[in-house]
Amino acid sequence: MRECIGVMEQAFGDLQRGFLHHPLRTLWVPPGVDGGTMWMAAYRSSPKPLFGTKLLFVLNDNPSRGLDSHQGQVILADGETGELRALLDASAVTAIRTAAVSALATRLLARENADVLAIVGTGVQARKHLESIPLARHIRRALVAGRTRDHAQRFVAEMRGTASVELGAADSAEAAVRGSDIVVTVTDSPTPVIKREWLRPGTHVNAVGASRPTAWEIDPGIYADGVAFCDRRESLQAEAGDYLQAVALGVITGVDAIGELGELVVGERNGRTSADQITLFRSLGLAIEDLAAAEFVVSKL
Ligand code: NDP
Repeated sequence: MRECIGVMEQAFGDLQRGFLHHPLRTLWVPPGVDGGTMWMAAYRSSPKPLFGTKLLFVLNDNPSRGLDSHQGQVILADGETGELRALLDASAVTAIRTAAVSALATRLLARENADVLAIVGTGVQARKHLESIPLARHIRRALVAGRTRDHAQRFVAEMRGTASVELGAADSAEAAVRGSDIVVTVTDSPTPVIKREWLRPGTHVNAVGASRPTAWEIDPGIYADGVAFCDRRESLQAEAGDYLQAVALGVITGVDAIGELGELVVGERNGRTSADQITLFRSLGLAIEDLAAAEFVVSKL
């Protein structure tokens, strides 16, 4: 995870510098399928041309089968000949690179002294963010909220042995969020799980779940403080329901009000300028993250 945070920093810098490229992903939900499939392509032009494609299958019933909901493959192919270079498990790559990107955003946007973390959600991404965020800030305590208190308690019982921080189950998302400096939302909820009024001044939010234009996992009011970043503006406009709501409600004027993580990495845009601001990183997930993470894994073999 620690190494992956560095790999993601390099990837977002390379995206901004024009060495990495990707189109919008394609989501298809076949009739009767609870979930769907996503096709995500990327290309790196320099220093060594490389294609990366992720075929993702999201099956929402999988956790009840003891499986991750996100399955699939990441394919790396030579950027000049198209020959197969590697085939990786997309479940593992997605789990790790997503939490690493949130840790990168946290490092760049959260207050230096932020030390209480709230995680809303109790699935794969909740586990990975519990690992990644303490690598970005000195987290003293993490509070976890699930759909029910039982789910949060189950999560805490499972993770207590491996977590690097003191861990507690909150009665509700509100209880977890109100006492925290960094908030992570990692649910598949189509309706907001956190409200703007629960955030205390200076909080940093990583909103990671619900990547469909019809779903919004966070209160659109959270965009109001003017320090909002995403991974790619084009993806935000096409895939983030909370962003579309924020524009429709007049909370923000449009996409130019939102920065990109790559701009922050290379220093082309300011992040937080005061300790009181609420900062937001809206993560949707890009194929360039999969390409870079997969190539890094292959380089270690
Ligand atoms: P999981 O299916 O493993 O977990 C989803 C979790 O959300 C479950 O624990 C579920 O709880 C919880 N949940 C649903 N509704 C609520 C609610 N109202 N309040 C609290 N918890 C709730 O999925 P992942 O962890 O793999 O992914 C989480 C989200 O992140 C998904 O939306 C996914 O699409 C997205 N994602 C985003 C990526 C990115 O790059 N931005 C990459 C990968 C995933 P319960 O068990 O009680 O149902």
